[in-house]
Amino acid sequence: MKLDVDVLRYLSREDFRVLTAVEMGMRNHEIVPSVLIDRIASLKHGGTYKVLKNLLKHKLLHHDASKYDGFRLTYLGYDFLAIKTMVNRGVFTAVGRQIGVGKESDIFEVSREDGTIMAMKLHRLGRTSFRAVKSKRDYLRHRNNYNWLYLSRLAALKEYAFMKALEEHGFPVPNSVDCNRHCVVMSLVQGYPLVQVKELQNPEVVFETILGLIIRLAEHGLIHCDFNEFNIMIDDDEKVTMIDFPQMVSVSHRNAQMYFDRDVECIYKFFGKRFKLTFEEQDDNVDASEVDTDESSRPSFSSINKTAGFLDKELAASGFTRKEQDEIERFIEGDIEEDAGDEGEGTEDNGHESELNKTTIKDLGSLQLKEEEPTSSHNKEDRIEVNQQTFEA
Ligand code: ADP
Ligand code: MG
Repeated sequence: MKLDVDVLRYLSREDFRVLTAVEMGMRNHEIVPSVLIDRIASLKHGGTYKVLKNLLKHKLLHHDASKYDGFRLTYLGYDFLAIKTMVNRGVFTAVGRQIGVGKESDIFEVSREDGTIMAMKLHRLGRTSFRAVKSKRDYLRHRNNYNWLYLSRLAALKEYAFMKALEEHGFPVPNSVDCNRHCVVMSLVQGYPLVQVKELQNPEVVFETILGLIIRLAEHGLIHCDFNEFNIMIDDDEKVTMIDFPQMVSVSHRNAQMYFDRDVECIYKFFGKRFKLTFEEQDDNVDASEVDTDESSRPSFSSINKTAGFLDKELAASGFTRKEQDEIERFIEGDIEEDAGDEGEGTEDNGHESELNKTTIKDLGSLQLKEEEPTSSHNKEDRIEVNQQTFEA
C-alpha cells in the first residue's frame, strides 16, 4: 500500500493532540477506549471524535470495536509521532527514500536543512512474531506494556545507547544523532553491507579487522550477537563499520560463549565461502583455549581478557537501564525460541500483524516537513498536560 506521507504536513495541532492521547492511553490499554481518548485530549465541543475519524482515514489509527469502542496506533501513527518530534527538535527537515528493510526495522534517508543526509531507523520489534509471543507466554500476557510499541521503543533506546557508548570507545559505528520513541537517527554510512560485496582488494586484512572487532568488543564486555555480512558495512577504501545493536549482550550473559562463538563462526564461514580464505582446521572436540594460543587459530572466548560491567555502568548513563536490558533480552531470546519452536505461527498473515505491516511508510516519496509554529519557545514538542493518575489507574 502506498502511503502519502505528505499528510503529515496537513495534520493539525488537534490531530497530533489526539494521536498523542491515543499513545498515552496505550500505556495501559491495548485498545484505548474512545471516551478515554476524549478525556485525555480534552478538545472542546466533542472535537475528538471528528479528529479520530480523520486519523483513521489516514491510517494513523486502527479502530477496534470488538470489545468496546476504541482505537490503537498503527505503526504509521507511531512513525508520525516520532518523525514530528524529530522535526520539531530540528534533527532533520525531510524524509527521503527507504534504504533498508530488516526483519525488525525500516531504514530511511532523512536530510537536514543544509542538505546533509542521515539515516533514520524505525524499529519494528515484534513485527514478525508479536502475536505468537503474546498468545503463548504468560509473563507477557499479564504485562500490557509488553506490546510492539513498548518493545520497539526499548530496541531503539538500546541501539542508541550502545551506538553512543561504542562510538566513545572508538569503535567504527555510525555517529548517533538522536533517539525518540522507536526511532534512531544516525550518520549515513558510506558503503555497502558486506553481503553485497563480491570482491575485496585485501580480504585477509578485512577479515582480521572484523575478527579484531569481535575480540575488542568482548574485551569491553560485549558480544554483538548478530555479527554477520548483513550488519557489517564496507566502503570503497575497505573500511569497516558495524551496525545493528539491539541484540547485543554482556559477556556475563549465561549464553555468552555460544553467542561469541556464533559471531566468530559467521565471519569464518562467510570469508571462506565468498573470498576463498582458508583456515587451519581445528578439532571441534577440544576447547580452543586448551589447544594453543597461536595467532592463526580462532579466537576463543575463554582466553579473552574481558571487562564485564561495561553494560551496567556506561549504558545506564545513557538512559538504558539494566532492567530494560533484561526485558529486551528476554523478548529477543523468547522470540528466537518461538521461531524455532513453531514454524509459521504468528509470522503468517494473521489479523494483527499483517494490518500493522500495511500501515508503515513503505513507499514514501520525498517529504518536506514544515515545522509547526512552536507553542512556546521552551517547549516545541506537543505535549499534553494531564494528570497521570487519571488514566494510569
Ligand atoms: P535490522 O535490525 O532490521 O537488520 P539494520 O540496522 O541492520 O536493521 O539495517 C538494515 C539495513 O539498512 C542494513 O543492512 C544497511 O543496508 C542499511 N543501513 C542501516 N543503517 C545504516 C546507516 N547508518 N547507513 C547506511 N545504511 C544503513
Ligand atoms: Mg541488520
